[in-house]
Amino acid sequence: MASGICQLHIFFFPFLAHGHMIPTVDMAKLFTTRGVKASVITTPGNAPHLSRSIQKASELGIELDVKIIKFPSAEAGLPEGWENLDAITNEVNRELIVKFYMATTKLQKPLEQLLQEHKPDCLVADMFFPWATDAAAKFGIPRLVFHGTSFFSLCAIKCLALYEPHKKVSSDSEPFVMPNLPGEIKLTRNQLPDPAKQDMGDNDFSRFMKASDDSDLRSYGVVVNSFYELEHAYADHYRKALGRRAWHIGPVSLCNRNFEDKALRGKQASVDEQECLKWLNSKQPNSVVYICFGSVANFTSAQLMEIAMGLEASGQNFIWVVRKNKNNGGEEEKEDWLPEGFEKRMEGKGLIIRGWAPQVLILDHEAVGGFVTHCGWNSILEGVTAGVPLVTWPVYAEQFYNEKIVNEVLKIGIGVGIQKWCRIVGDFVKREAIVKAVNEIMMGDRAEEMRSRAKAFGEMAKRAVENGGSSSSNLNSLIEDLSLRRH
Ligand code: UDP
Repeated sequence: MASGICQLHIFFFPFLAHGHMIPTVDMAKLFTTRGVKASVITTPGNAPHLSRSIQKASELGIELDVKIIKFPSAEAGLPEGWENLDAITNEVNRELIVKFYMATTKLQKPLEQLLQEHKPDCLVADMFFPWATDAAAKFGIPRLVFHGTSFFSLCAIKCLALYEPHKKVSSDSEPFVMPNLPGEIKLTRNQLPDPAKQDMGDNDFSRFMKASDDSDLRSYGVVVNSFYELEHAYADHYRKALGRRAWHIGPVSLCNRNFEDKALRGKQASVDEQECLKWLNSKQPNSVVYICFGSVANFTSAQLMEIAMGLEASGQNFIWVVRKNKNNGGEEEKEDWLPEGFEKRMEGKGLIIRGWAPQVLILDHEAVGGFVTHCGWNSILEGVTAGVPLVTWPVYAEQFYNEKIVNEVLKIGIGVGIQKWCRIVGDFVKREAIVKAVNEIMMGDRAEEMRSRAKAFGEMAKRAVENGGSSSSNLNSLIEDLSLRRH
């Protein structure tokens, strides 16, 4: 493909959150496999999280680098070092979240300076940067949008905005059907993101969504981390019924083929990766359930306690990732979220990772037989790729839509019973529900049926990114379009 003097140079600019930065780095790596030169833009505080895998790639001669622009913390009235969404630890920080989003709008100027200096052939920028289309247009550069979610959710979001079915029910718990969306998909107002429930009048969120959608429409198109076989009805709907130009190129996590690639992905893990694999090696195939709620969701101590008791009562082997550090500024934090003597009792049976887990490395191990997930799209896709059934535990953002595709369209998971969208901290789930759901994906005929469906999707995912596969071909045709455009 493109090489030598015709080599394309593409800039990738992810939103400052791990769920956006991780797949964007994967995507940039994927483009380099087609001879493209790729640069990922980020801020000083975020650079260490992505430079580990980029550094390794560039040592191998791959043309991939990081370009750093300053984050305006002080200007935006944010604490020093507050450069990533994972700095949010609870709802009380809502004001800071708004400031954080506002601060990202100030990245337009430094982005434009970079574009002017390097004149890349294309800018792939996150949907949270609606101003990026105009920034790129100033220099005649096409802008692609990356939403970081499924075709299904992209369609669902559009469906709600177009038909407002949630305004035609009389209570928050009354189900409504999503009009003109393939499948009989039902939701309740309780499951919608808070901002989406607000009247579509003039408020910050509706203004942002409008700007984002306008920017989508004026952009060159949308790149989607998904594969056609997984959600073809929604991929078709998005393109044909909604008239969007889109390329599906995923699962992008599959560009990480070996141990090192997977271990270097995202933040530095809080466990020794080899030790973690050793622990998994000691377990039978499909005998461990993996529990992780992504990079932002943050549960209360009471909920963590309930999860611990549920896991113990389920009798299953587990790896449980908790977004808490044992040490807080050098002080031993009192762990009020674990039952007395829990870890001693669970020795050999359960592993708690406090902080960051090497998720793909764990999911891809044959001992892992199920995944309890908050339904972030990356996590779902990584679970699908690994071929494991899922317990769905949506918390915020578009995760309730993602839950629908898992349980009702793909039929590879079961819900833990969350009824209500809840910013960051999540709706409370009792231990009995946790035991029931975990056991249902790990044991019995239904579990086997879901596992075999999940495995089939996992195989399709791998074929999609191989030569001639749907995602591989879509990526080639995107690169060809961009090359032709340049000449
Ligand atoms: N992740 C990880 N280790 C963790 C937590 C998350 O590697 O301990 C990765 C996970 O593999 C995924 C991303 O972080 O690629 C999280 O994205 P997702 O869309 O699942 O959720 P979000 O963090 O955006 O809510």
